[in-house]
Amino acid sequence: MNSNFPFSDTPDTVCYTCCHVLNEHKPILYVSHDEDGYWQFLCGGIHKEEDAKIVSLSAILKIDDSIAALADLDYGEYAEADDSDCDWIVHSKS
Ligand SMILES: [Zn+2]
Repeated sequence: MNSNFPFSDTPDTVCYTCCHVLNEHKPILYVSHDEDGYWQFLCGGIHKEEDAKIVSLSAILKIDDSIAALADLDYGEYAEADDSDCDWIVHSKS
């Protein structure tokens, strides 16, 4: 276990991102920690099912290390930012 890893999940935990972040290098503007434990790291755009990409938590952290600030996001919470320089605003889904 890497003690520098900010998430309580392991670095190889499967999470979701979108093709825009992965292939087009758009900033991550939407982070969700779902009730079922899945993390989603998406750009701020509209998504179709085929846009979803599966990566590991360590891979997404390499793409954008600012998401480390959201490592303690609770189940059922999500965070949004207006652009990559903005602070995260955390919301609860329930
Ligand atoms: Zn996207």
